Amino acid sequence: MFERIKDQTVFITGASSGIGKSTAIVFAEFGANVVIAARRGEKLAELEGIINQKCPTVKVHKVVMDVSNEESIKAGFESLPSWAADIDVLVNNAGVSPGVEQIKDLTSENMDTMLNTNIKSLVFVTQQVLPRMLQRDSGTVINIGSVLGSAPRPTAGMYSATKFALSAITQTLRMETNDTNVRIVEVKPGIVQTEFNVVRNFGDQEASDKFYEAMPSIPPEDVAEAILFAASRDPRCVITEISVVPKGQA
Ligand code: NDP
Repeated sequence: MFERIKDQTVFITGASSGIGKSTAIVFAEFGANVVIAARRGEKLAELEGIINQKCPTVKVHKVVMDVSNEESIKAGFESLPSWAADIDVLVNNAGVSPGVEQIKDLTSENMDTMLNTNIKSLVFVTQQVLPRMLQRDSGTVINIGSVLGSAPRPTAGMYSATKFALSAITQTLRMETNDTNVRIVEVKPGIVQTEFNVVRNFGDQEASDKFYEAMPSIPPEDVAEAILFAASRDPRCVITEISVVPKGQA
């Protein structure tokens, strides 16, 4: 079912933890060569070790890159080895929600962090990859949105707005590439057990444990497998959108 992914080159942003890390592992397990990008180099090195051990024939390249900064993105792509010059699958996964906040409490700094990381990065990273995909007339871009990208929730208004924007950009990109063989996909997770909820949104383990007790959630592997499924379909077929939510999440 996933054989087409073997020997393909996959670029994953936000690969140092959570969904991105699981995605790198499942793609490597099916024989894809992976470029793993994030800011925390030590976490990327750990992941490289895991992949080298599990999948010794697969190539891995680490890119320490801040996707909220266009210059850092450009430098990251300039550092790619020749085997990664042609990217078959781009997974725009890096994303943040710096805290649980009502609209009345939003600060300019928090908004800028979300706008730069969740929206502008998507455009800048895609601009690095899309021209060569169009030249080769093949490739898949997978943007990680959220179920909050179609239904906002109190205390997540600005985050939700960034995921609505991601959806709009994804749909527009699909229309703009419709006369080519490049595929554009959106994957919308529900509540996933990652650092995103633990540290970033609740500050500590105890608060996040309470959150997970109160809400159904899924491990990041469930989302990674959906991403792999979309990327490995026959090129004649586009999975335009997949929602992956825990059973019971309203
Ligand atoms: P994690 O916090 O575990 O992962 C987020 C990743 O994004 C990390 O690897 C982090 O790496 C990277 N990242 C954040 N900011 C930057 C930056 N400025 N530059 C480069 N990399 C950055 O959370 P998830 O795995 O859950 O999140 C992945 C995606 O899934 C996000 O887009 C999120 O919005 C989405 N999502 C998550 C849900 C959930 O419940 N967990 C639900 C719905 C959607 P580093 O810090 O090393 O840079």
